Amino acid sequence: MNNKLSRREFLQFAGAAAAATTLAACGGASLPAPTAPAATPEPSSPTADQALALLRDGNARYVAAKMVRPNQGTDRRASLSAGQKPFAIIFSCVDSRVPPELAFDRGLGDLFVIRTAGHAIDRAALGSIQFGVEELHIPLIVVMGHEKCGAVSATLDAVEKNAHAAGDIEALVQAIKPAIEKSKNQTGDKLDNAVKTNTVLTVEALKANAILGEEVKKGKLMIVGTRYDLDTGMVEMLA
Ligand SMILES: [Zn+2]
Repeated sequence: MNNKLSRREFLQFAGAAAAATTLAACGGASLPAPTAPAATPEPSSPTADQALALLRDGNARYVAAKMVRPNQGTDRRASLSAGQKPFAIIFSCVDSRVPPELAFDRGLGDLFVIRTAGHAIDRAALGSIQFGVEELHIPLIVVMGHEKCGAVSATLDAVEKNAHAAGDIEALVQAIKPAIEKSKNQTGDKLDNAVKTNTVLTVEALKANAILGEEVKKGKLMIVGTRYDLDTGMVEMLA
């Protein structure tokens, strides 16, 4: 079997291309807004703003325990065999308490999810994200850190003790370490400051990536940072 897909095959995999869009600024806003479950049909090719609104609405339902669990039926499953057209990339932590499809009350074919501990960036993660943007034309990347992240906590510990983590966990420590350094003089909760800084730095790193940065510049891609609260389930906007 040939594992190398041609561009045509990639595009077949991608399904129809999503429409390009002009993006509005969204800094300072807060997910989620108190909205009722969608009464109107969802856009078939959401813009970044519409994609963000879908996530905001889904998270509001999740927080309020009023989930509608869209796109999880057998019809949806069968329809997706022809191709996928997810509307958002979620780059988040592996933590079992923060599953994106549940947190945003979405279903099959909606979210293109990349998860590494502490959403640490490596080439495989970056390649996966670029695939979502370049081949699936996804207009929105949401980086989602979370309260009490174990990977950030372990990195904080390693830095404070000037120690190395076991095995390949050290790769995570090295990836997350800049957030510890940058947030060390902030007032307030040390771990939460580091979590938020780690997410902001990840957003900056993605924007600084040549391929992704170009899409942002062209107005075809929006990249935002968020924090998931373990207690409430709420996803708030950071950057
Ligand atoms: Zn985590």
